[in-house]
Amino acid sequence: MLLQSLLWPYVEWVIRFWLAKLFFMFGVSQLMHWQVTLALAGNENPIPFIAPAEAAYISTACDLAGAALLALGFMTRYAAIPLLALSFITQWQYEPFDTQLFWTALFGWFAINGAGPVSMDGLLRHGLEESAIPLIPRIIGFSKQLRSRGSPLYASMIRVWLGLALLLSALAGSMQWNLASVARWLPLDVAMRTPVPAAFLGGALFVLGVGTRYVAIALLLSLFVYSVTDPRATDAIYLAMLLAMLGVHGGGSVSLDLAIDALRRRLSRKQDPHGPPSAERLPRVVIVGAGFGGLRCAEALRHVRVSVTLIDRNNYHLFQPLLYQVATAALSPGDIAMPARPMFRDAPNTRLLLGAVTGIDTKRQTVLLEKLLREGGVGGARTGAQRDRGRTGNQAPHSDRVRAGGGHFGCD
Ligand SMILES: Cc1cc2nc3c(=O)[nH]c(=O)nc-3n(C[C@H](O)[C@H](O)[C@H](O)COP(=O)(O)OP(=O)(O)OC[C@H]3O[C@@H](n4cnc5c(N)ncnc54)[C@H](O)[C@@H]3O)c2cc1C
Repeated sequence: MLLQSLLWPYVEWVIRFWLAKLFFMFGVSQLMHWQVTLALAGNENPIPFIAPAEAAYISTACDLAGAALLALGFMTRYAAIPLLALSFITQWQYEPFDTQLFWTALFGWFAINGAGPVSMDGLLRHGLEESAIPLIPRIIGFSKQLRSRGSPLYASMIRVWLGLALLLSALAGSMQWNLASVARWLPLDVAMRTPVPAAFLGGALFVLGVGTRYVAIALLLSLFVYSVTDPRATDAIYLAMLLAMLGVHGGGSVSLDLAIDALRRRLSRKQDPHGPPSAERLPRVVIVGAGFGGLRCAEALRHVRVSVTLIDRNNYHLFQPLLYQVATAALSPGDIAMPARPMFRDAPNTRLLLGAVTGIDTKRQTVLLEKLLREGGVGGARTGAQRDRGRTGNQAPHSDRVRAGGGHFGCD
């Protein structure tokens, strides 16, 4: 975690900047030698279904614009996708080489993960997340989902891919295998420069997904040591970048490490006589109002072991600073009112209630609701909720009660 939050943002920036500089130079040299670029686009390096001259313009524009955006970390995903496509097409159609495979893998990472915090995207992300500009919060939400679900899967794919390359390169020599058929898609040239025992052990562990972080860091260190003794290893810089990525992010969502961890947790849960902590047994927090304050509070508690109940009389969060724009008809009301429930759809410890709070009974640790308009936790669950009729003689018969701070939760 420490590596991920403290070191990775800067390592990621270096990788992004390195690739940006390289591809910007490609673009500049294509411009400077335009006749050669046209000839290459026509004869040796064609883009399928596109005329050579157009292909030359497109690839040069992608190199220059993509590199500039990548360096700034602005719209990083959209800059990485064309560069990924160009690298892939060249590898597939034209002369395959390992470095190009590494570029493809790194651009794939940026296409899924986007840029880290040291980037324009990182600066703008938080502000735009709450933006009333149509579609922008949706795009940011989609990017978030892609990062949280896609990155672990992609890390697993990279891990297995590198593992296969290392394993095959280690076995090929002793087994006399001909690897020509897979050479286009596996970085075997670079993998073969790794000492055989390290390639064999590292490759096997990578394929299985065992101790990925440690294996990646060990291989990374050995790569640096090796590059001092063997000058050929210095062009394995892109392999070093991918190893750094695995060293920081681990083996991803499909690995033996995770399976072992899940088994260990299941066994330890079985040994716990009290069983897993249910929402019933967690400390309760009730937040009144899904305004800026309420949402921030619920967001901060998203990963804390408490059961959160967020109550609002409306089912939306109102972005008040843009009320003037609605008043002047520059925006429609729907643009500044965001449904609150989807914001916590992926937070199982948070439930949202629609109702107007009329008071708080501190003695009974109870929040009083005028009327519970709609109830149900995230995904419709009513974790820990129970009916509590007839114990509130001093209240109006239609009142609803929420008991906070360790008591139970009830609504009449
Ligand atoms: C026109 C306008 C322009 C503004 N411009 C700016 C600006 O440019 N910059 C800036 O920093 N600030 C601005 N503000 C102020 C900013 O919007 C507020 O400071 C901020 O919204 C306060 O956040 P909050 O969470 O305390 O309350 P709110 O955002 O008002 O949220 C309160 C929530 O509680 C709910 N609620 C209230 N009572 C109950 C109840 N009894 N039961 C259940 N739910 C209840 C409401 O439905 C609401 O969702 C502006 C405000 C307005 C009105």
